Amino acid sequence: MIFNCQKYENMKLQGSVLRIEKSSIYDGDGLRTVVFMKGCPLRCQWCSTPESHHKKIQTTVDGSITYGQIMTVEEVMIEVRKDSLFYFNSGGGMTVSGGEILAQPEFVYNLVRRACHEGIDTCIETSFYGKWDDINRILGCTDTAFVDMKLMDPEAHKKYIGVPNDLILSNIRKAGAEKKKNRKLIIRRPLIPGVNDSRQDLELLGQFLAGLPGVDHLQLLPYHRLGTDTYRKLGMTYQLPDTETPSDEHMEWCRSIANKYIETIV
Ligand code: SF4
Repeated sequence: MIFNCQKYENMKLQGSVLRIEKSSIYDGDGLRTVVFMKGCPLRCQWCSTPESHHKKIQTTVDGSITYGQIMTVEEVMIEVRKDSLFYFNSGGGMTVSGGEILAQPEFVYNLVRRACHEGIDTCIETSFYGKWDDINRILGCTDTAFVDMKLMDPEAHKKYIGVPNDLILSNIRKAGAEKKKNRKLIIRRPLIPGVNDSRQDLELLGQFLAGLPGVDHLQLLPYHRLGTDTYRKLGMTYQLPDTETPSDEHMEWCRSIANKYIETIV
C-alpha cells in the first residue's frame, strides 16, 4: 500500500527534531528508525545528549555543527517509510526518543498515530515527565513504551535530575495499573554508580514495580560516558567526570536485588 501521496490530518504539523537514526538495534525489537526529538525539562547529570536539552536549533561554540532541524510529521514519515521493508522482515519499526518526547506532545502524538495507521510498529522512550492526558493518548498508538525510572529517593531525584519524581511515579502508576492487550510497558534504569545503584533505592524500585501488573519487566542499563565531548563543543560542563562504567559483576548484583520483586534484565 502506498501512503505517501495521501493527505491526512496534521501532516504539516512541525516539530523540532534532533536527528533521525536508521537501523538501530537498541531501541526496541528488530531494526528501527529512531526519531530523536529536541527539548527536555530534566537535567540528568549523566545525560549523554546535551544537544537535546533545548527545543531550539543550536550550534556549537565554534559554529561548525548545528543540532536539530524543524520538520513536519510528513517529512519525518518520508524518512521512516524508507526502511519499511526492513521493519517487516526484522519485526522492527519506528522509535520516538529524546530529549523528552513529552516536550512536544502534539507532534509526537501525530507521528505515532500516523505510523500506527500505516501498520508500522511504534516504540517510545520517555521519562513520563508530562501530563497524563498527553501520555495516555500517545500510549494509545504505541506498541512498546520504555520509561525511565531513575531514582526513587525524592531528594536525590531533585539533586541529580533537577525535578521532583512525584509526577513520574504517578504516571508510571497509572500506565502500569492495568495490563494493556498487545502493548508492552518496560521500565528502564540507567545505573549510575554512587547515584542510583544502592540496595535501598533498588529495593524501593522493585517494590514499586511489583504492584503494577501492566509493567512487563525492568531493564537495568550500565552508565556510559558517551556524549561528554558534546558538552565541550557546546561550552557546557559535564557534571560526573569521574564516574566509571559499572562492572558486569556489579550489574548482576543490582539485578539480583531488583529481581526479588520483578523480572529484571541486564
Ligand atoms: S531525560 Fe534524557 S535527555 Fe533529558 S536530561 Fe535526562 S538523560 Fe538527558
